[in-house]
Amino acid sequence: MKLYNTLTRQKEEFVPVHEGKVGMYVCGPTVYNYIHIGNARPMVVFDTVRRYLEYKGFDVNYVSNFTDVDDKIIKKANEEGVSSSEISERFIKECIKDMEGLNVKPATHHPRATEEIDGMIDMIRKLIEKGIAYEKEGTVYFRTRSFKDYGRLSGKNLDDMQAGIRIAVSDEKEDPMDFVLWKPKKEGEPSWPSPWGDGRPGWHIECSVMSKKYIGSTIDIHAGGEDLVFPHHENEIAQSEAANDEKFAKYWMHNAFLNIDNKKMSKSAGNFFTVREISEKYPLQVIRFFMLSAHYRSPLNFSDTLVEAAKNGLDRILTAVYSLRDSMQTAQGAMSPEDLKNVDTAKELVAKFEAAMEDDFNTADAISAIFELVKLANITAKDGSLEYVEYLYHTITQLCDILGIETEKEEELLDADIEALIEERQAARKAKNYARADEIRNMLADQGIILEDTRAGVKWKRA
Ligand code: AMP
Ligand code: ZN
Repeated sequence: MKLYNTLTRQKEEFVPVHEGKVGMYVCGPTVYNYIHIGNARPMVVFDTVRRYLEYKGFDVNYVSNFTDVDDKIIKKANEEGVSSSEISERFIKECIKDMEGLNVKPATHHPRATEEIDGMIDMIRKLIEKGIAYEKEGTVYFRTRSFKDYGRLSGKNLDDMQAGIRIAVSDEKEDPMDFVLWKPKKEGEPSWPSPWGDGRPGWHIECSVMSKKYIGSTIDIHAGGEDLVFPHHENEIAQSEAANDEKFAKYWMHNAFLNIDNKKMSKSAGNFFTVREISEKYPLQVIRFFMLSAHYRSPLNFSDTLVEAAKNGLDRILTAVYSLRDSMQTAQGAMSPEDLKNVDTAKELVAKFEAAMEDDFNTADAISAIFELVKLANITAKDGSLEYVEYLYHTITQLCDILGIETEKEEELLDADIEALIEERQAARKAKNYARADEIRNMLADQGIILEDTRAGVKWKRA
């Protein structure tokens, strides 16, 4: 199995530190709002990497953090007049709902920065003891130039970087390239006691501490969006390797951006759609399939046309699976010689799927192999034996499951469909067609939609 390592800029054979086990750390979201579909890309992509590794028999320890202390969270809390933990709690819950919708498996561990402050203080203390960090007026800085490999991941050179920096006169750092590990308390901000006074951690230190605690000093795969390469991941390497004297991560994987009109989707640019908004328009499974239809290192432009194309493609797969399921009711007997020939073809397509996944997780080509299997099923299943139909059904559903595509679940009704049915029920009631009105109510109830007739009209909710 080969994967592209950002650190070496080439595809490398994947060999984990401990045979049969994989420790994987994926930087998670800063929780001050609903996640947007750009944030969802690394979640979907690396969840798929995890699922494939599990399919291959690896025992995967998947760790993904929630950054729950940050300037943006504090700002939002102050705007709403609530505590920052209230904001982060709220959006962690919402994020988990979105991840469920996208069929992203829960991480083995989902640590939160605010629950790991002691570990961060320990690592900072160690860096100070080693002479790699220093404190000035309650702020602790990392002495960047003391880490000789700094810039290796991002391919940046410290002197070039320094030339581009404007140095503030008030700057108390020894060197403009030094970065913050701990900052002193400010009015209206959450803080924790530390040997350097009350304050809070800088952003980068949390991932160094949590990955070590939940995986170990050396992790197999460290992943995130490509905007994290510099400075976040560069700083994580410097802190961890300086503190632990061991290699921090063997393989670095970075997904390219999800764009809108060829610009990065981001909260700060305002060109974003939240996962929640999009879920009103498309089942989230379609969004997941759309994301996997491109290679994770290629930029992906979000447009209705492309999502519609993904929806049609996914429908083709699901229709074939439902049709196989129906055939399983009527087909009979064991494999015929013709079936066995077709099984050979199917096995070649499974090998094609695996080869694509093992070539740096090329999900686009893996999906093409599924389409070929679907085509084979559409042509051959109707004349096939029960054993053959079952084989095709299990094969296609298993490959879909590796991509996190559920074939068992019938698609959920969208809000717009529900509202149209409610309107139809109202019209039926007006026309005194109570049988139809009840039929619609029952149909919705079967889908877990509860109706409530109020003075202000009909209200509905999902059970
Ligand atoms: P943030 O909450 O900004 O720290 O982002 C959480 C994760 O989403 C990180 O791995 C980012 O690299 C990733 N990310 C943010 N915006 C995008 C985007 N437009 N496309 C792909 N990944 C993104
Ligand atoms: Zn991180």
